Amino acid sequence: MDVVNKLKEVQQRVQRACARVNRSTKEVRLIAVTKYLDLEGTRQFLDLGLNHLGESRTQHAIPKIEYLGSTASWHFIGSLQKNKAKELPGRFTYLHSLDRYSLALELDKQFKKNKGTLKCFIQVNVSGEESKHGIFPNELKEFLNEASGFTSLKMIGLMTMAPKTAKPKEVRLIFRELKDLQKEVQLQHHSVSHLSMGMSQDYEIAIEEGATWIRLGTALVES
Ligand SMILES: *Cc1c(COP(=O)(O)O)cnc(C)c1O
Repeated sequence: MDVVNKLKEVQQRVQRACARVNRSTKEVRLIAVTKYLDLEGTRQFLDLGLNHLGESRTQHAIPKIEYLGSTASWHFIGSLQKNKAKELPGRFTYLHSLDRYSLALELDKQFKKNKGTLKCFIQVNVSGEESKHGIFPNELKEFLNEASGFTSLKMIGLMTMAPKTAKPKEVRLIFRELKDLQKEVQLQHHSVSHLSMGMSQDYEIAIEEGATWIRLGTALVES
């Protein structure tokens, strides 16, 4: 199937998932993950009106950002090494994988230099998997209190990934827990209003559980 039809199918599924839980499709925004694509493939996404694009490695993203300019908003979605933090200012508007204080400190420093702001999702390890990045739910409040001192980072939401092997029921519980956490912390940290959850294999469940940003790669790539 080509990209146009893939996108149509995704849009239909998003609509149906929204309808099942009485949500407006306007509440769910799509990040087209371009990490599998070359420059032309990425440009094709832009031509289709997909203007929130996600990348997980700076070395793949930078040539695309330079080539395509700032017509898109770029989301950094992968795990980020501290020494790469300086690559983000002027290129990325969003980070979905803020998972430690030392990284936040470095990013704040780099964005301040550039007089920019980075909108951040805190990655939460809801499932407790050893291999997963992310802070644990019981560390979230303390993290947010510490992060409130960063003037160039704005905490806008929480992000999680469900284990690839999890059953739909388990995935749903993970997403539900992230939503519960978000509601709880938003009482004190009002800007934490978004939920970045749902990838190609589980985005419909994520929407039913309250996702406001879904991150799709495979579901949009030609097959
Ligand atoms: C690759 C990636 C995605 C997209 O994954 P698909 O399964 O291809 O939709 C979403 N989020 C993160 C963090 C990723 O690394």
